[in-house]
Parts: sequence; C-alpha cells; structure tokens
Amino acid sequence: MFVVFEGIEASGKSTQAKLLYERLIREGWGAILTHEPGDTPVGKKLREIVLSEPMDRLTELLLFLADRREHVMRVIAPALHEGKVVLCDRYLYSTVAYQMYGRGLRKEFVDELHTEIVGNIFPRRVYLLDIDVEEAFRRKKGTLDRIEQESLAFHQRVREGFLDMARRDPVFCVLDGKEQVETLHEKIWGDFHRFLKE
Ligand code: C5P
Repeated sequence: MFVVFEGIEASGKSTQAKLLYERLIREGWGAILTHEPGDTPVGKKLREIVLSEPMDRLTELLLFLADRREHVMRVIAPALHEGKVVLCDRYLYSTVAYQMYGRGLRKEFVDELHTEIVGNIFPRRVYLLDIDVEEAFRRKKGTLDRIEQESLAFHQRVREGFLDMARRDPVFCVLDGKEQVETLHEKIWGDFHRFLKE
C-alpha cells in the first residue's frame, strides 16, 4: 500500500511520516519510509542542483520529474511489488502545488508527463498537513534552500494549491498542522489503520 505525506515547508509532514513508519514497524508491518526529492543515487545529485542553482522554471520542473521517475522505478515500485507499505514524503502533488500553482506552469503539460512517469502508481491516501505560511516560516530553522527563499505570495499559492487539490480529490485527508504532534499522529493512525485491513 502506498501512502503520501504532503504540505508546505515545516508543516510537520516529515515528522508524521516518521511516526507512522515507526508505529508500523513496531506492529510488525513491512514498511519503507522514503522522500522526494533525493532518495536515489541520481536523485541525490538532482536535489543538490535543483535546490541550489538558479534556473528556469521549466528546467526546475524537469529535474523534479527526473527525480520522481528514478524514485518510482528504483524504490517505490519494487517495494510495492514486495507487498510493503510505502510511506512517501512528497510525491506528484508537490509538483502540482509548487510548479503549477506556485510557478504557473500548465496543468495539461504536467499531467501528461506524470502519466508517463508514474504509470498507475497512485497512493491509497494522501495526508496533507496544512499550516499557514507565516507560522511555517516562524518554525523553520537554519538556512533556507533556493525554493524556500521564494516570496510569501509564492508559498501562499503553493498552500492554496494543496488545499484546492484536496477539495477535488477524496484521496486527501487534510490535517491542521498546528495541532500537537501526538494528536496528529493519533488522527493519522485512526484514519490509516483501516486501510491495513483491506
Ligand atoms: O521536503 P523537502 O524540504 O525535502 O523539499 C525540498 C525542497 O524542494 C523544498 O524547498 C520544497 O519546497 C521543494 N520542492 C519543490 N517542488 C517539488 C518538490 C519539492 O519546489 N515538486
């Protein structure tokens, strides 16, 4: 089973993905925790380039998509084939939010490329940790990567993009990222564990 965590920076998605992963392992499930961009050998190099060098928005899109293709082929598809629960921190919804809603690239173009890149590998559930942009940047520590340095307006479009997708697609479960870590984990577990019985 394939499960995705999405949200803007510092929304708490990586923390929640890790907590769910640890609980699954404790309870004896075969599971992997993986992330985009950068969880393959090629992906690591792509991540370094895309988050540091200034570049055109279409170049940026293609690099994120190249990372995703490697990730699907080398990590996600093989683990699903082995019957594992795959927990993924960001997936194609991030591309729609950042490169379409954020940068203004055309939806039809991105959709068509995704059809080739991911095939039929879509998640059973997407947990969207929603948080307002000001709060997210108050939480954020350390140096900001190239994309985090974008304007508040850009990050607001990204947040709205995620919420817009969630309104249209019942695969999403939207959570309030300002709630306590443990409360959120229990909510996610409460929603998620029924899928394990399928
Ligand atoms: O989640 P993580 O911090 O690892 O993401 C790395 C960076 O890549 C973040 O700044 C995120 O906003 C950006 N990103 C993006 N477009 C994507 C995926 C991630 O701009 N499709």
